[in-house]
Order: sequence, then C-alpha cells, then structure tokens
Amino acid sequence: MPRSHSSLQRLYVTPDLYQGGALTLEKDQSLYLAAVLRKSVGDEVVLFNGRDGAWLCRLTGDSKKSVSLEVVEQIAPQTPQSDLWYGFAPLKNERLDYVIQKAVEMGAGTIQPVMTQYTQVHRLKSERLAANAIEAAEQCEVLSVPVIAPEIALDRLLDGWTEAHGDRKLIFADEGEASSSPVETLTALRGQRVGLLVGPEGGFSDEERGKLRALPFVVPISLGPRILRADTAAVAALAVTQAIIGDWR
Ligand code: SAH
Repeated sequence: MPRSHSSLQRLYVTPDLYQGGALTLEKDQSLYLAAVLRKSVGDEVVLFNGRDGAWLCRLTGDSKKSVSLEVVEQIAPQTPQSDLWYGFAPLKNERLDYVIQKAVEMGAGTIQPVMTQYTQVHRLKSERLAANAIEAAEQCEVLSVPVIAPEIALDRLLDGWTEAHGDRKLIFADEGEASSSPVETLTALRGQRVGLLVGPEGGFSDEERGKLRALPFVVPISLGPRILRADTAAVAALAVTQAIIGDWR
C-alpha cells in the first residue's frame, strides 16, 4: 500500500517535472522549506506545476538560499484544466483573498475580476490574486492552477462575451431573481460550457441587472430567499453550479 502522501508539504513550481529530473527552488520557497519547515536533505515534498501532475521529490540540498531536489515518482496524474469561468466583483482585502481561494477550491478554471458600478475596489494587485490562487491549490491538492484574468468592466465583458466565449452561457447570480430554485435552471444547462457571475456587496445596479437579464446568453439564478453576502454567494453559487453542471458532467 503506497504511503499516503497527503501529509507531505505541496509546493507549486514552474520547471518541468519528470522521472529522474532535478531542480533548484527559488529563494522564497527555499527559505520556506529549509528555514520555516526545517526540511533537510532526504526529506520529501510534493511538487506540481499545473502541467505534469504531482511528483514526490526528495531534498538533495537544504541551503536556505537554494534548496535542490531530485524528482522521484509521479503520485498523481495531471488533471485537465477546469472549463468553469468564474466572474466576480472584487471585494476588499482579506475577503477578496477568501473569494479567490474558494474559487480555486471549488474548481474554477478561469477567475475573472469584473468591475461593476458598485464595486468597492478599483486597483487590484494581480500578484496578490495569483499568490492566493497558488496557496489554495497547494493546500487543497488542486493540480491545475486557474488562470487569473486581468480585470474587466462589466459592459466590456458583456459586449465582447460572444466573441470571446462562443456558446458559453453566463449564469448570473441575481439577488433580484424571484427565488425559484436554481436546480431546474442549472440542470437544463448540463453539458454546456458555463460561466458564473457574482456581484459586489452593493449588488448590481438596476441598469446592470436590466442589461444582464436582456442578454440571450445570460441565465439568471436565485440563490434562495435570503440576500447573501458576496463572499457567501460566491461559495453558494460555485457549489450549486459545480454540483449540477461542473464536477459530474
Ligand atoms: N446589497 C445588495 C445585495 C448584494 S449581495 C442588495 O441588498 O440587493 C452580493 C451579490 O451576491 C449579489 O450581487 C448577487 O450576485 C449575489 N447574491 C446574494 N444573494 C443572492 C440571492 N439570494 N440570489 C442570487 N444572488 C445572490
């Protein structure tokens, strides 16, 4: 019975990973492994790069400036990049970090910050978003790290949707939707490429809702009779969408 590797530290790296390979980590990851986790030569970690699956690797050098490892064996094949597009109006600081992490855990393939009329945040630090996505992938054994797209204004997103996304439907978490169950609506979308859009704390403006609901590719859903906070709505919408359409095609 192969030893369970789930207790091993997982790190996202960029170099290729293959049988008999070897690599040296960047300074920040070396410091983390050698100083923070106090790993030393002979210790094992799991590395993944989003392309080659997960590999058991063993330290061959434990200098705090540049840890070196040998690539021992593949312990999980690469999973296909998820097709789920997730659009959300960015929230402030740690709640933004939270939404990015939950979108990764819930299997989003593309994470798209969408600037709406009531969005509170206007300048996003893309490296912070990417770091959150990688941290979530490392913690939750997600092997394909989602793409974090550059922010886009809602109007530009909608005006360019068909050209950019073809026949993909855009599921719109509409707090104003009569609270009919989303189950039938989402079940009717099974087998289709979908995106999901969740609004900001302040919600969508009437003008935005009107524009969204008039578009042929937009499918409004209710997440229930209560008004959820934007970060709660993110998880609820992702969970119901993945449960009905995504994870079990
Ligand atoms: N301040 C707004 C609510 C915004 S909630 C108001 O009082 O109307 C933030 C976002 O979460 C919304 O834009 C929507 O996308 C989603 N959301 C929250 N509750 C929802 C519900 N019951 N049904 C569908 N979407 C919901």
